[in-house]
Amino acid sequence: NDRLHLQLQITRYGNGEQLMLVRDVTHVRQLEQMRKDFVANVSHELRTPLTVIAGYLEPLLDNVEDVNPRWRRPLQQMQQQAERMKNLLDDLLLLARLEASDSLQDKQPVAVEPLLQTIARDARALSGEGNHQILLEADPRLELQGNEAELNSAFSNLVFNAVKYTPAGGEIRIRWWADPAGGHLSVQDTGIGIESRHLARLTERFYRVDASRSASTGGTGLGLAIVKHALIHHHGRLEIASEPGKGSLFTCHFPTAQLATRRELGNAS
Ligand code: ADP
Repeated sequence: NDRLHLQLQITRYGNGEQLMLVRDVTHVRQLEQMRKDFVANVSHELRTPLTVIAGYLEPLLDNVEDVNPRWRRPLQQMQQQAERMKNLLDDLLLLARLEASDSLQDKQPVAVEPLLQTIARDARALSGEGNHQILLEADPRLELQGNEAELNSAFSNLVFNAVKYTPAGGEIRIRWWADPAGGHLSVQDTGIGIESRHLARLTERFYRVDASRSASTGGTGLGLAIVKHALIHHHGRLEIASEPGKGSLFTCHFPTAQLATRRELGNAS
């Protein structure tokens, strides 16, 4: 915290002259850190009272026939909103943890294909009556060095978004493959799409194309910010391509150095 943060900017001119600018950004960094700490602390402190409220609601709604009919609907609404608030706090805490450092301390080989199988299964459950076609093509031998929980958050956010923003009956295609440029994970949907003017800002916290729509789908507005920071930890980057009314393609690119290949599959002995 006592460190001095300096920003260096060098401009080279055609005539060989150079301009060097040094800026002291210590104060800016300290304020940024205070904001992050504040958000993490508030999120943490709000979780306890929320757990208590949700804890009182649960037995009431488990025996809904004992509840005065006039109170059933309001209590259900309260439970839904408590659930939404819990998701929001969980996402805020996760994002605060991800932002706390730019790199991962402890890396393990993560089996991506089984992770995607689970996510695809959960996405089918989320789709429910929506009957989305969810297809998965993943190289089972290809592993990624990193943190499984963070990668799971990133990939599930992309896949669940695809379900949320694709009308019933649409198709969602998940792919995981490698080529000489590195490892790539893509999630393609045939959904509502995104106008190009929004693309650059999508990974900002709470940035939404259509706030009312996101609220009705239960989103927190933090999903893509989480994806971005989890990818930074894995030296990856997110590419977004989309066409309104046609669908979107979100691709995570990872450098070859982050990849590992499992040689013996299903043969532990
Ligand atoms: P939210 O919780 O609102 O979904 P995200 O950070 O996950 O927040 O996404 C930010 C915004 O990007 C969303 O509100 C939505 O407008 C847009 N978006 C994300 N994924 C898709 C997608 N697959 N298709 C269309 N729009 C999307």
